[in-house]
Amino acid sequence: MTDCIFCRIAEGEISARVILETESVLAFHDLNPAAPHHALVIPRRHIATLDEAEPDDRSLLGDMMLAGAEVARQLGFAKKGYRTVLNCNHNGGQSVYHIHLHVLGGRNLSWPPG
Ligand code: 5GP
Ligand code: ZN
Repeated sequence: MTDCIFCRIAEGEISARVILETESVLAFHDLNPAAPHHALVIPRRHIATLDEAEPDDRSLLGDMMLAGAEVARQLGFAKKGYRTVLNCNHNGGQSVYHIHLHVLGGRNLSWPPG
């Protein structure tokens, strides 16, 4: 059994409020939302960080982006706008070491982020 929390969510061993699933990725609501809408998109296959992604992961990373856009449409905030974020390693603020795309919407998001 893996101790990676997002692998366990992908395997259905830990529950999550799932928004959409495809063969390659899974999207679910963040447990601790930072905006009115806050979803996470993860690949089913474990990749720890963006820094560890390889050329062979190209289509999987594309699947994550497209699933993020689909989540925004399904939840109804695509036209108003949203932000996708992928935190990498310590200085990027990454806390779960299974790559994930944040999809944030439902309010004006300031720039630059803190
Ligand atoms: P990071 O800081 O690594 O970029 O983002 C990790 C995100 O995962 C955080 O926004 C955090 O709230 C979320 N998170 C951590 N554990 C869980 C969990 O067990 N379930 C869900 N749905 N979200 C989680
Ligand atoms: Zn994992």
